[in-house]
Amino acid sequence: MSNFLEKAQELFPYTQAMRRDFHMHPELGFNEIRTGGIVAKELESLGIEVTKGVGKTGVVGFLEGAKPGPTILLRFDMDALPITEDTGAEYASQNPGVMHACGHDGHTAIGLTVAKILNEHRHELKGSIKFCFQPSEEGTNGEEIGGALMMMRDGVLENPKVEKTLSLHLWNDKPLGWLHVAGGPVMAGADLFIVKLTGKGGHGASPDTTIDPVVCAAQIVTALQTIVSRNIEPLKPAVVSVTSVHSGTAFNIIPQTAELNGTIRTFDPQVRKLVHERFESIVRGTAQAMGCEAEITIKQVTAPVINNEDVAASVLQSAQALFPDTEIASSQYLTMGAEDMGYMQEKADGCYFFIGSANAEKNLNYNHHHPKFDFDERALIAGVALMAGAAADLLKE
Ligand SMILES: [Zn+2]
Ligand SMILES: [Zn+2]
Repeated sequence: MSNFLEKAQELFPYTQAMRRDFHMHPELGFNEIRTGGIVAKELESLGIEVTKGVGKTGVVGFLEGAKPGPTILLRFDMDALPITEDTGAEYASQNPGVMHACGHDGHTAIGLTVAKILNEHRHELKGSIKFCFQPSEEGTNGEEIGGALMMMRDGVLENPKVEKTLSLHLWNDKPLGWLHVAGGPVMAGADLFIVKLTGKGGHGASPDTTIDPVVCAAQIVTALQTIVSRNIEPLKPAVVSVTSVHSGTAFNIIPQTAELNGTIRTFDPQVRKLVHERFESIVRGTAQAMGCEAEITIKQVTAPVINNEDVAASVLQSAQALFPDTEIASSQYLTMGAEDMGYMQEKADGCYFFIGSANAEKNLNYNHHHPKFDFDERALIAGVALMAGAAADLLKE
């Protein structure tokens, strides 16, 4: 087992070079043409069978083990974000307004290195591996669905059927050396909402002749705060955030309409249902009281990521064998962040684990999605070793 860690260390210059190259040339969701091209070329150079265009710009490598057995899927996301980079790094983005500010450049580099390592262990594998390089994890980027669903629609979980999945995230909320592997819920399910309010426009000096959607929107924003604070059990996590409020054009016009957008995050389906019920009744009730019409849209963005207990136990064992001197966090660690890997894990038992990647001394501890986000690249070694080791262990039995 320990040779996966040695191998990851030995290949670190490759992983780092790939990561920096992806970092310099970031691409938004469903535009990962250059990235996907390099991924395909690297996999092909190993003799791994490659399918391109799975979920638009997704790439899948298929490695058949020497002995028969189940198929597992290792997932790495490739997309960047619409952010202008402000790290000053020598490998900073050369694509203005686009940045790898979530670490997916690292995930893609980890995936390629893992493919290199496991390809050398082909003769030991009882079963097969799909290396799934996924586009557009961060959102749908104008399409109706995001990268995971798009790849699933193109059959990534079939032919051969995927039995288990592994996926990871470099995690700047925690320092380098921290590892988290646990069964149960890890990332929240996300919904987005759009509320369109229609009142009656008019002169700002004659509010009595209008129905003011701005005042109505303000009442709704305030009232929505009571869902989490008054309706949801305090020990059950939930978030309702209004993240955009748009209305009006001038200081002396009461507008005709107002629009609220935002997100709902939950883990438990019962909690989600209750939030939706309260949301609808607060919006409708408040709008009605204020004389406005309300049109409500709530759309699921991702399912919660729930780790399978058995797969997580196997990954935890692999981690303990690889890192005997590290105390691996294995109690519940919930984040309200969302991940479309939740959809794949609804269909195949999976484990999504976290690799601590922050280094405060080197200023590498900005939050994900921050213009100064960067991580300690040594985290790539742990990511490669654990992903390769855990996959090999799953195909040993
Ligand atoms: Zn992100
Ligand atoms: Zn991410």
